[in-house]
Amino acid sequence: LQSRSISSSRLATALLPPSERKSSQMPPKEQLAFGRTFSDHMLKIEYVNGRGWGDPMIGPVEDLRISPAASSLHYGMKAYKSLSDPNDLRLFRPDLNMKRLSNSMHRLSCPGYDFDREELIRCIAELVRVDKDWIPQGEGYSLYLRPTVISTHPYLGVCSPESLLLYVITSPVGPYYKSGFDPVRLTADTEYVRAWPGGTGNAKVGGNYAPTMLAAEDAAKRGYSQILWIFGPDDEVTEVGAMNVFFFLRKQDGTKELVTPPLTRGDILPGVTRQSIVEWTRSWGEFEVNERTITLPEIKQAADENRLMEAFGAGTAAVVTPISCIQYKGEDIEIPATGELTKRVFHDVMGIQYAHCLCLLSQHA
Ligand code: PMP
Repeated sequence: LQSRSISSSRLATALLPPSERKSSQMPPKEQLAFGRTFSDHMLKIEYVNGRGWGDPMIGPVEDLRISPAASSLHYGMKAYKSLSDPNDLRLFRPDLNMKRLSNSMHRLSCPGYDFDREELIRCIAELVRVDKDWIPQGEGYSLYLRPTVISTHPYLGVCSPESLLLYVITSPVGPYYKSGFDPVRLTADTEYVRAWPGGTGNAKVGGNYAPTMLAAEDAAKRGYSQILWIFGPDDEVTEVGAMNVFFFLRKQDGTKELVTPPLTRGDILPGVTRQSIVEWTRSWGEFEVNERTITLPEIKQAADENRLMEAFGAGTAAVVTPISCIQYKGEDIEIPATGELTKRVFHDVMGIQYAHCLCLLSQHA
């Protein structure tokens, strides 16, 4: 028996006829809180070793029925509606998201990780089309997509799963910032480490997130909203909260440089927003954009010499988050909040998400 790949052509047979589709109303968009509201339908594709991927199915959102013994895991990306045409739906760089999902599955030894990424994007596009009325229109509004893979293998031993479920739920969301940017104060003073070379920091796995909650709670008690994650004896900066991080500085010779830590050591999640910002700011040709190691002592020195101009986090949910302060060894490094570059990057990325990114379904579906 040939092991089957994901195929969107097998999706059509499973798609509900319009008359049997659920069609509840999206609440008024102003009431949307991030990740609390779900659209009507979900996409499900089961995997079983030997048989491969089953038929993709779009059906009503419902509770999952999985064995209580299942050995499980967790794994965003967004769909946008053009600001001018509500039938013009867009996904932002889904190819990069699917590649990261596949790499993350591979890292966790999940079979089926080498699925056809284009085909899965077609299945997800169909899900977005089925629930297109759940994409709120307007700048800052989108449908957040949460593709997830869990092991459904009912076995308590430690082994690679033999069966999986890939499912995608979607959630209409509003602007992250309701009234302008809200800069965050960070602390690098924590006894915890998010990721390390050879670990799973560069994969999107549930196990990376749960252990950060306690550190974030400790930081909040001390008046800092997130952790600036560092690694190694030199205090190399890696990420901020669950975002990638950028520093905009003037070098000793007076030239400007945008820096983000490199992916080479495997302890940083390769963010889609991060990659996009690196590519686009480089294309401006206005300053150096470097993926290089940056340490907290270097950042402190730049701040002391008034050479640290801006710092921001980058990720799908907020696009960019300005950083106004970093606590390091008990001292607060204040960062000027002019935010000119941060604002420009924000508007540039948003412009691309609503107007130029992969156009999904222009036809009236
Ligand atoms: N780092 C971590 C640890 C994250 O969880 C995320 C959010 N997925 C990011 C960075 C940003 O990635 P992206 O730009 O693809 O959302």
